[in-house]
Amino acid sequence: MSRTEPLLTVRGLAKSFGATPVLRSIDLDVPAGTVTTLIGPSGSGKTTLLRCLNGLEVPEAGTVTVSGGPSVDFGDAVSQRRLAALRDCSAMVFQHYNLFPHKTVLDNVIEGPVIVQRRPRPEAVAEATALLERVGLGEKRDAYPFSLSGGQQQRVGIVRALALKPRLLLFDEPTSALDPELVGDVLSLMRELAAEGWTMVVATHELQFAREVANEVLFMDGGVIVERGRRRRCSAARTRSARGASCSG
Ligand code: ADP
Repeated sequence: MSRTEPLLTVRGLAKSFGATPVLRSIDLDVPAGTVTTLIGPSGSGKTTLLRCLNGLEVPEAGTVTVSGGPSVDFGDAVSQRRLAALRDCSAMVFQHYNLFPHKTVLDNVIEGPVIVQRRPRPEAVAEATALLERVGLGEKRDAYPFSLSGGQQQRVGIVRALALKPRLLLFDEPTSALDPELVGDVLSLMRELAAEGWTMVVATHELQFAREVANEVLFMDGGVIVERGRRRRCSAARTRSARGASCSG
């Protein structure tokens, strides 16, 4: 995949809740190996957009295309198979971590690879362990989420997303629920992932992070992208997404 070719292309995406339009004709191109940040006031549609990108919400109109993967036209009746194929391309990191409280850190991380992706458990355990060590949480493998700080829980949330080997990482205000002193570790990890060439779409209130790390900053208001600011061109080394796990079409 060329570095200018979008990994993710969105055209005319529209979503309403009841009679209230929440996303209006969203167009978006996310080149492979780049970071796109979504900035905007509360209620502007950032979370809904992220959820539409991985099929957690079903829009009424528009297309979402993942290069080398599915192209879903929401104007037509969308099959569950197609929605599942779209879902397989990305992994979401949630504001409130969304870890299973009754499962250990390790079991939280291997749940997706083993249950959803049907990968061999020993392989999933080895990969999860390596990822947890990488983020400094190797010793917390057998701990339960309640015993971890918010920052540690969110790093587990990120590891859980990475363990799925997605083409695209989606972050929904990943530091908004954290005490200020815990925000730095999570942002550092996200900076590392960006430098490794992961393709990321990040809803955030961290303007400094957006300024430093994002290739494109999108300002949303009232369900519309009202302004787009390109920050840097993506580097030639950013090919992580091109060699990342494939998703079916
Ligand atoms: P942001 O992430 O920018 O804060 P959201 O995407 O969460 O914005 O919300 C956009 C709008 O959609 C808000 O007005 C919110 O109240 C509404 N909304 C979000 N989810 C739902 C839902 N499940 N049902 C009804 N309204 C919703």
